[in-house]
Amino acid sequence: MAERPFFTGKKIMTTPFTIHVRLTKACNANCTYCSSFMENPDKFMSLKDYKKSITFIWEQLIKLDIHVTNLTIEYVGGEIMLVPLNILKSQVDFAREFFLEKGIVVVDGAQTNLIGSKRKVSQLNDIFNGKISTSIDSFTDQRKLGNSAKKYRVIMMQRESEITNLERFKIPAVFTMDQKSIKDTVNEFKLANRANRNLMIRPVFNGGNSIESITPEQLSEAMLDTFDSWFIRSNVILEPHFSLLKKRLQTRNNIDPLYDFSYCSFQNDCAKKSMSLEPNGDLHICQELADSNAIKIGNAVDSIWDQDQWDIYNKRGENLHKDCLECPYLKDCQGGCMMHSIEDNNGPYGKPSYCYAWKKIFKKIDDNIDINGEEKILSWIDRLESK
Ligand code: SF4
Ligand code: SF4
Repeated sequence: MAERPFFTGKKIMTTPFTIHVRLTKACNANCTYCSSFMENPDKFMSLKDYKKSITFIWEQLIKLDIHVTNLTIEYVGGEIMLVPLNILKSQVDFAREFFLEKGIVVVDGAQTNLIGSKRKVSQLNDIFNGKISTSIDSFTDQRKLGNSAKKYRVIMMQRESEITNLERFKIPAVFTMDQKSIKDTVNEFKLANRANRNLMIRPVFNGGNSIESITPEQLSEAMLDTFDSWFIRSNVILEPHFSLLKKRLQTRNNIDPLYDFSYCSFQNDCAKKSMSLEPNGDLHICQELADSNAIKIGNAVDSIWDQDQWDIYNKRGENLHKDCLECPYLKDCQGGCMMHSIEDNNGPYGKPSYCYAWKKIFKKIDDNIDINGEEKILSWIDRLESK
């Protein structure tokens, strides 16, 4: 039987942390639901400011008594390729060496729209040793280059095929569900499944251009329908379904998943788990809170830290809504996402309205575990994880 760290029940003594780094808000595309505005297209964080920021973030983590052992640095945009790639490489190398010296394991990657020259995309792929991901929308015209969705799609697919031509798998992608795209969610998953592409589906959030949020009922339907298309037969990882399934398996076996295996949007210790850096040095708990214009926790370039604000975010876990405290899925859901609650005007300690969808998907997972039995599902998880 395969080694299943998530299912052993052994406490894994690591302290994971994620830093989202947005070096620029500039973008070469024009997408309806983008969370980064096309502002100051020539601007990006300088190497000097980045070094200062990383050093400042490290100093805060020490002061907060967060002794990180495993660090993920996720470089996002805007479009990351609009940072001159020689400068980006120096920035990435600096952070790797900085944390390596502290004995911290660093895994980094970048999110890109792949809209760039063949040489640039290949360089970006090399900087991150192939750990890049992208966004996808195969059915609506919301992702555009200039005014052309077709142009966007053709270039994106061309660049992707150039860097994955020898691989069995396509680049992992995020699919954003809004009022226009949500009807295509199952079909988008089916395409990803055929292409051997791991996919994350997520509701649009309130940042960027004019967007149309989806309702909890719509989210629920999309989550359940994609679950039915994916469960037990797919060869790709579909998130958040995959993580939620693993969590339910843990919880049903009294394996405490609270800390080591928590993920967005199902964690309440976000302040101890992540930080997000903006091009001007502003610091937030995560990229999503930055995009929803939540109150910042400091500015790394100006060496400003707002301990009171960080404390407010940090206390979500102690102040969850009473419904969450009584909920049978609390261990798995952890009260949902703080950003969703803030977006719903329920504040940092509230219950997000997407609770409706989360309850439905947890129930669906439980029903399917009962029908199929754990061993069959665990074997399928092993296969997906060994790819
Ligand atoms: S607030 Fe939501 S998106 Fe941000 S880190 Fe927490 S769970 Fe993730
Ligand atoms: S499913 Fe709803 S009630 Fe239960 S923990 Fe999640 S947000 Fe709270």
